[in-house]
Amino acid sequence: MLLEGKKAIITGGTRGIGYAIAERFIEEGAAVTVFGSRQETADAAVEKLLADHPEAKVWGRTCNLAEMDEVVEAFTAAAEDMGGLDTVVNNAGISQSAPLLDYTAEDWKKVMDLNVTAVFNGSYAAAKLMEEAGHGGTITTTSSMVAKYGQPAGVGYPTSKFAVNGMVQSLCRELAPKGIRVNAVAPGITRTDMVAALPEKMIAPLIATIPLGRMGEPEDVANAFVYLASDMSSYVTGAVIPVDGAARA
Ligand code: NAD
Repeated sequence: MLLEGKKAIITGGTRGIGYAIAERFIEEGAAVTVFGSRQETADAAVEKLLADHPEAKVWGRTCNLAEMDEVVEAFTAAAEDMGGLDTVVNNAGISQSAPLLDYTAEDWKKVMDLNVTAVFNGSYAAAKLMEEAGHGGTITTTSSMVAKYGQPAGVGYPTSKFAVNGMVQSLCRELAPKGIRVNAVAPGITRTDMVAALPEKMIAPLIATIPLGRMGEPEDVANAFVYLASDMSSYVTGAVIPVDGAARA
């Protein structure tokens, strides 16, 4: 098993890509704490994971990821539950596809709070706990294929994912001497609630342009996270791995 004995935090782990990451991490032997936007959704995810994997070591938590103090406190408590912390996945994210002139200041703040500030806070808390424990670890964030070319509406979302890639490029250099590897996975169109919310007439033409000829499944994306959290990627840091079927390549 690739993650035997590792202890992992996954934000946005209650559904979609984050849930698939939690499931694959458990299958590979990791203890996992999933963070959700509400305690009830985190508890429901834990219950579902335990139903399929009765031996799993899994916990559910919530906190306001945009508040640094709350994140440090909650990650510290999660590390205490699990008996340590080796890997953090900053996956929680939201999309907002309004055109520029319909984009509100509130939309902008919501996207930046979760997609950028929460990633900064999660990376900070991860690095703090890993440094205090005196060992290295991994921090992996969910970016997006839109951080290559942008997108024709909803400017906040691609902007936030370009910011994530910038954080990866900087933090990989800063944290490498501490043995902490920092990477991202950039999914293409992946079958989750985020995509289910989009109209079919918007999705079908996008799929038609994907060289691999299909939408990604959450498990396709989760496998890249397994690799980056495992010792198989021991010489990989600062990478943004596309898992997009070569969409828009
Ligand atoms: P999803 O909507 O299915 O899941 C989002 C997760 O984020 C949920 O677990 C939810 O609890 C959590 N979340 C939402 N708002 C939150 C908040 N305010 N505080 C804390 N947690 C919150 O979405 P998904 O498609 O699984 O997306 C996961 C990540 O993948 C996101 O970062 C997204 O930008 C990225 N992504 C998705 C796609 C796609 O096609 N689905 C493509 C590229 C990147």
